[in-house]
Amino acid sequence: SNSSYKWRRVLLKVSGEALAGDQTQNIDPKVTMSIAREVAAVTRLGIEVAIVVGGGNIFRGSSWAGSSGLDRSSADYIGMLATVMNAMFLQSTMESIGIPTRVQTAFRMSEVAEPYIRRRAVRHLEKGRVVIFAAGTGNPFFTTDTAAALRCAEINAEVVLKATNVDGVYDDNPRHNPNASLLETLTYQDVMSRDLSVMDMTAITLCHENNIPEDMGVCVFLLGIPSSWRVMPCEEGAYD
Ligand code: UDP
Repeated sequence: SNSSYKWRRVLLKVSGEALAGDQTQNIDPKVTMSIAREVAAVTRLGIEVAIVVGGGNIFRGSSWAGSSGLDRSSADYIGMLATVMNAMFLQSTMESIGIPTRVQTAFRMSEVAEPYIRRRAVRHLEKGRVVIFAAGTGNPFFTTDTAAALRCAEINAEVVLKATNVDGVYDDNPRHNPNASLLETLTYQDVMSRDLSVMDMTAITLCHENNIPEDMGVCVFLLGIPSSWRVMPCEEGAYD
């Protein structure tokens, strides 16, 4: 039983940027393996894990729109396809260490993955499978952060955890500003009024409106360090 944990079902957002690690390739297999191991450890506790994967390591629609006659919608569809590549890679890595995994795409690519069907996704989770949601929301002009907030609300997950390559939410970009300080706690109001870029505003608003807990400040965790999921402050929430 998983009743001793605060969260029964979590939605993990893995950004494309995190998947790239410090490699020159788009995907660092050390990173996908580290994610797979952490997810395995959490699922072993009986906590259900759904994942929304980004694509920014391969293609980001907004930065390509306009070039060579590419309109924003086409660029965004290419970006969504990039998330499917990441999802399939992550799925293979997870299955290589024995985690049953399903990929569901927001638009149909039925030769390689299931289409997104909410009830079916929930059923997979109940059976202990990890579900990776790919292709974002299926709509251009959105982001995978928003897809994470949306899927979290749809499947009744209790929290969105964002996996990225900094160890928490800072008041400024810690990579550019050495004086940026780590925020111990965070409210939706803080994110909006201080214009923090931890997740885009559409995602933040969706989480807020659906009462998804606002303790994201303690939930963003460092990837690439084995067991970080368990040793980061996140633990205090997850293992009540
Ligand atoms: N994208 C989209 N609609 C969505 C999700 C993603 O159009 O619902 C496109 C968009 O072009 C985006 C790209 O897919 O730039 C990759 O996703 P994102 O930038 O969110 O990935 P991350 O920042 O997490 O790596």
